[in-house]
Amino acid sequence: PLVLGFETSCDETGVGIVRGHTLLADALATSMAEHERFGGVVPEIASRAHLEAMVPTVHRALADAGIRASDIDAVAVTSGPGLTGALLVGVAAAKAYALALDKPLYGVNHLAAHVAVDELQHGPLAEPSIAMLVSGGHSSLLLVPDLAQDVQPLGRTIDDAAGEAFDKVARVLGLPFPGGPPIDKAARDGDPSAIAFPRGLTGRRDAPYDFSFSGLKTAVARWVEARQRAGEPVPLADVAASFQEAVADVLTAKAVRACRDHGVDHLVLGGGVAANSRLRALAEERCEKAGIVLRVPSPKLCTDNGAMVAALGSRLVAAGVAPSAPDLGADSALPIDVVSR
Ligand code: ATP
Ligand code: MG
Ligand code: FE
Repeated sequence: PLVLGFETSCDETGVGIVRGHTLLADALATSMAEHERFGGVVPEIASRAHLEAMVPTVHRALADAGIRASDIDAVAVTSGPGLTGALLVGVAAAKAYALALDKPLYGVNHLAAHVAVDELQHGPLAEPSIAMLVSGGHSSLLLVPDLAQDVQPLGRTIDDAAGEAFDKVARVLGLPFPGGPPIDKAARDGDPSAIAFPRGLTGRRDAPYDFSFSGLKTAVARWVEARQRAGEPVPLADVAASFQEAVADVLTAKAVRACRDHGVDHLVLGGGVAANSRLRALAEERCEKAGIVLRVPSPKLCTDNGAMVAALGSRLVAAGVAPSAPDLGADSALPIDVVSR
């Protein structure tokens, strides 16, 4: 099927077009520059930017794919989780196109879409797979027997998401928002074993698949403050590398453990933090050792985009899942096990 996908859960206005597992277009507009000085995404600014960017972004996607709107077989849209006002712009746009084209509408889960996007690069997902979703708002381990309708949460962060930790540590280090990319870059020149930052929830009695990054963030902030108080320079590269190592270590150790415990030999990563170079390298290394097949989308498809929504929509159409009702709304707290609604 030829599927048009809309993504507006945060600051990215994404419109993607896929045919089956083939990516035809992935048009993106972002309001990130407007949020930068606030150190976080401002919901009202994001909603307004989505409104302004929506129609031009759809036109760009159609042109890139070389198709007409009337060629579309189905429309998919992120209906949650995310910022309510931002989500509503995408849902309204998707409804309008579905209605005008007289095609089925699928309201999908943003998090499942982060996993589905990998099918555009590596073909059908092996099922069951373990999925590790690490982004600005979420960090979860999932058992995925069937991406179209059966996604089971195994564990999640009990405080900050992995991406949130990157963003907060970047702020402590005076690096721009969002913090993932500049920390990744700074860490290249650093020693990952320079500072022994804590690995949250890795004790024997801790929940095996839950994460905690808030202690790590505090530990980094304390370490940097102590340096500054002593009037000593802060070794930016070493702090970045050591922090990044702590995150990558915990994430990959728990993902491999989830695979082993569930007898699953396929792991897929998704979400913005999956763009991190050290996480990708360490996951590769540990999966190879454990005999696990690792799949990670290219960095550009890890962060929010419209193609991921179209990819999941395509999957739902192929599986014969019922489309959404015409009164589809936004659910800012859509649970992770609700793939579509
Ligand atoms: P969610 O998907 O939970 O709703 P989101 O949509 O804001 O949240 P994404 O766009 O998937 O999240 O990811 C953004 C996050 O990814 C930010 O926190 C950002 O710092 C982080 N990130 C992006 N690139 C990298 C990188 N190279 N290394 C580490 N983190 C990164
Ligand atoms: Mg974003
Ligand atoms: Fe996301």
